Order: sequence, then C-alpha cells, then structure tokens
Amino acid sequence: MDINSSNIEQIVRQVLDGMNGVPAKAAAPKEIPSKARVAMLTQLEKFELKEYPMPPVGDDDILVKVEGCGVCGTDAHEFKRDPFGLIPVALGHEGTGEIVKMGKNVKKDSAGKPLAIGDKVVTCMIFKDDPDITMYDLNKQNVGQGAEVYGLIPDDDIHMNGWFGDYILVRGGSTVFNVSDLDLDSRILIEPCAVLIHAVERAKTTGILRFNSRVVVQGCGPIGLICIAVLRTMGIENIVAVDGEAKRLDFAKEMGATKTVNFKDHKGIEALAGAVKDAFGGYYADFAFQCTGSPVAHANIYKFIRSGGGLCELGFFINGGDATINPHFDICSKEITTVGSWVYTLRDYATTFDFLKRAKGIGLPMVKLITHKFPLEQINEALEVNLKMEGLKIAIVNK
Ligand SMILES: [Zn+2]
Repeated sequence: MDINSSNIEQIVRQVLDGMNGVPAKAAAPKEIPSKARVAMLTQLEKFELKEYPMPPVGDDDILVKVEGCGVCGTDAHEFKRDPFGLIPVALGHEGTGEIVKMGKNVKKDSAGKPLAIGDKVVTCMIFKDDPDITMYDLNKQNVGQGAEVYGLIPDDDIHMNGWFGDYILVRGGSTVFNVSDLDLDSRILIEPCAVLIHAVERAKTTGILRFNSRVVVQGCGPIGLICIAVLRTMGIENIVAVDGEAKRLDFAKEMGATKTVNFKDHKGIEALAGAVKDAFGGYYADFAFQCTGSPVAHANIYKFIRSGGGLCELGFFINGGDATINPHFDICSKEITTVGSWVYTLRDYATTFDFLKRAKGIGLPMVKLITHKFPLEQINEALEVNLKMEGLKIAIVNK
C-alpha cells in the first residue's frame, strides 16, 4: 500500500472525526485513580483529608465519583459533639455523583430504572439485615428505623463510606436512584426535600390538610422554606410563615408564603397568635408545621391552630429538651390532631424527584437555597459557616 501524505491526512481526519462523534455514554470509561481522598472526621471539629487506595468494586457494587454533597444539620451536630459516637467517620449523606464503575450484577436502580456508567445517582438507605426491602414496602421502613445511611456509618476497611470525598463505594443492598434528569443543585437538595415530602405525607394522614387550608409554617430555615415549597407544589395557597429574621421571611415569600409574621415584632404569645390570626384575615390556622428545634416554639404553635385543626411536628431531629404545654387548652379542648415526622421512607425519596421538577416548573427558586459552596479542601470552613447559621444550605462541590 502506497501511503503518501494525503493518505495520512485522511486517516488522521477519520480518527479525529471518530473521536468527536462518540456519544458520551459510549466513551472509554473515565480513568480511575489508584487512590482517592476522603474527608474523615477524626476528632471533634476536625476533618482531615485522608488518601486511601481505591477499593475493589465487587459484582454488586457501584463506584461513584462524587460531584457534590450538602451539609446537613446532622453533620453539624456530629462535627460539634459526636452524639452518635461515630468518630472516625466519613460524613456526608446528601451527596450525588457519576457512576464510573459497576459490578457485573448491577443493572437497575431501586426504582427499576436502568443504570449505566456515566449516570448520575443518589443513595438512600442500606438495609443490611433485610436486603429484600424495596421502595414499594410502604411505611415499612424509615431511615430512623433499622436502616443505615452512607455518611453516617463508622469508618471501615473500605473508607469511602461518605459523600464528603472524591469517590464513594456504593455496596450491594444499598438503595440507589438514577437521577440523571436533575441538575447538580437539585440533586444536592434531594435529601432535605425528602424530609418534607415525608412530613407532608404524615400531615395528610390527619385528613385536615386540603387545597384551601390555611397553613402556618413556623421556622424558615431550609426545612421550613422547603416545607412552603412542597405545600405550594401541592396547590396550597394560603400559607403564613413565622420566623424571627426578616431575610428568611423575605425568602419565605419567594418560596410561596402568602404572608409572613416576624415573632420579634410581637411581645408575648397572645400578641403573636393574634398576628398569625390577622395574617389569615381573622382566622387561626387549619394546619401547622413546626420546623424549628426550639421547645418554646413547639409550645407556642398550638395557639396558632383553630379548634379541630392539625399539627405536624418535625423540628426535633435531635433532643432539644422538654416543652411545656397545657394539654387541656392546647390539645384536648381544641381536639387538635398531631403527627410527628422523622426523616423519610424510600417511597418519599422517589416522590422527591418529581417534586423538584414540579417546583422548578412553577418557578420556585429552589436553587437559591444553596447559599454557599466550598471545595472539599475547605470542609472545616463549610461546617463552621453551617454552625454560625450564616447561610441556608451549604454544599461541598468537587471540581
Ligand atoms: Zn440530612
């Protein structure tokens, strides 16, 4: 064969065209480094970036390159006091990333959607004792009841157990969802949003929450703000937000609150309850969501609710102490129906993906909830900012 310069040019062009034309999914697998970093909480208030050899990927495992992970209130408690006794631990449970390697048995996610290299995923729970549980076992399992979560399991030989790192090894038996159709910011918000999907599902069991209900949301941190957003996507219009910070109340309005009440403007619970009543045009609330960790706020909220109304208490992820209420006036004589809400079920997690799409569709500024983004190297600063409560949702975003 006579290869002259024009032949060579043609061959080179063909090769280059071939490279450009290859769709992303069929691309050669990304090169996986032999080591990866993990932000390990080694003592109170101190993460250390540690490097470990990349663990082997078993037949049922998925290796995920982490793109980002939200900082949760639970992470802040763990960072400050280690209430769960997990240290040393790789934290981060609100994470998402891209599949870079999969075991041969992995074909579908927990909802039955196909999984491939390059797909974006989130994890939910790990059912070690009962791996047959699926998202269709309604109400059967809740994160708080016997399931483990990546980012809250003590360190082991694999080390890549939390989303605050470069990679995470998702082992067989874990729930994993393909969320390639959501943008990175939305994916980082899935976990906290699932808490509210669950709370609203709990509230609905009372039969009191309806389209035209007057709903009060107390506390406008990320949980309260997302609560308002979930209510809006359900078509509930009449929402009064209560908080002590003007900035958060402004954001509550952007999220869909009709009126806001700053408790600092009102002296005493009677005046405050009067302000809530005024905000509803002379009525107390049909239903209330308590989204703060303050026992006083819990005691106060009963005064905002009409006789025969309902309450969902979801603010106390950890023990915040005792609240003093008057059972006669607050619950019994008014016949208040109360429900508690704690984390979420698998079904709630899957519902959350649809919620995020709908929230975007009706123009709710969900992504504005992420007020700070830090690289992994600055994880200690990220936790400090979270503890100072300067922002709303703080996220670690990898390059
Ligand atoms: Zn969380």
